[in-house]
Amino acid sequence: MISYKELGLVNTKEMFAKAVKGGYAIPAFNFNTMEQMQAIVQAAVETKSPVIMQVSKGARNYANGTILRNLAKGAVEYAKELGCENPEIVLHLDHGDSFEICKECIDNGFSSVMIDGSHLPYEENVALAKKVVEYAHQYDVTVEAELGVLAGVEDEVCAAESHYTKPEEVIDFATRTGCDSLAISIGTSHGAHKFTPEQCTLVNGVLVPPPLAFDILAEIEAKLPGFPIVLHGSSSVPQEEVETINKYGGALKAAIGIPEDQLRQASKSAVCKINIDSDSRLAMTAAVRKYLAENPSHFDPRQYLKPARDNMKKMYIHKIVNVLGSDNKLG
Ligand SMILES: [Zn+2]
Repeated sequence: MISYKELGLVNTKEMFAKAVKGGYAIPAFNFNTMEQMQAIVQAAVETKSPVIMQVSKGARNYANGTILRNLAKGAVEYAKELGCENPEIVLHLDHGDSFEICKECIDNGFSSVMIDGSHLPYEENVALAKKVVEYAHQYDVTVEAELGVLAGVEDEVCAAESHYTKPEEVIDFATRTGCDSLAISIGTSHGAHKFTPEQCTLVNGVLVPPPLAFDILAEIEAKLPGFPIVLHGSSSVPQEEVETINKYGGALKAAIGIPEDQLRQASKSAVCKINIDSDSRLAMTAAVRKYLAENPSHFDPRQYLKPARDNMKKMYIHKIVNVLGSDNKLG
C-alpha cells in the first residue's frame, strides 16, 4: 500500500470546497508523457494554482501506471524545486470502470478516483459507486461519480449519444453513494469533434455550438447546494491550433469545442473541476507539426518536444487565468 500522502499529493476535498465558495474551477489536465507533466507543473507553479493531474485508461495502456504514478511524485518535487513551497497536486484516475481498477489506484498512491458507472442502469451505478466510496474513504481518497451520459469518443470512453443528467436523481445518488463530487452531462462531450457544423450556428464567420444546458446545472445546484460538480469533455478546441495543424500537413475536419465564455460561466457556479484533454493534444501536435515542417533536417526529439511543451504550458496558463480562475488560489 502506497499512500498518496507519502508522495506529497492531496485529495480534492478542501480544494473543491474552496473552489465552490470562491466561484472558480480547478483544472483537471490529462497527462501521458513527461513533457505534459512538466508543462502542467510549470503552469500551475507560475500561476499559483492548485491542479489535478489525471490518468485515463488509455494513458495507463500507453505509459504504464507505475511510471505515471512516479511522474506525479516527481511533479510534486519538481513544483517545489520551481519555488512552490506547498504545491496542491491531485493524482486522479479518470474514468475508472471497475471497483478493481479504482482499488488498484488507491492502493498505489492516487489521491482521487473516478468511478464511471454512468452507462449502467441507475441502481447498478449507485451500488458500484457506493462500493468504491466505502473503500476509498478508508484511505482518505476522494471519489468522483457520474450521472448522465456524455457523447463522444476519447481513449476508451465512447458513447453515441448524450443523456442529460436528470436533476431529480442527484440527491438520491449523492446521498446513497457518499461520493465527493458528481460529474454531470449538460451538453459537453469527449474528443476534439464535439459538434458537427450542422449543429452549430455561423456567427461572424465562426461556428458556434449550441449552449450548455445551464438550466439543468442550476436545477442540480438548487438540489445539492454547495456540492462539487464536475464537467468532462470541456476542451475548447482552439481554432488557431487546428489551423496550424492543417497548415503543416494535418487534416483535421470540423473540430469544434465548448466556447470558453461558457466554461467561464460554469466555473462561477458549483462546477469546481473542468476536464481538459483534447486542447493539450492539439497544442502539442500543432507545435510538433510546425517545427518539423520548418526544420525538416532535425531529428532530435528534444528539438520538437520543447516547443510542444512550451505551447501546452501557454495553453494551460491561459485556461487557469482566463477561463477557470484558479490562479493565486494556493494555501
Ligand atoms: Zn471524461
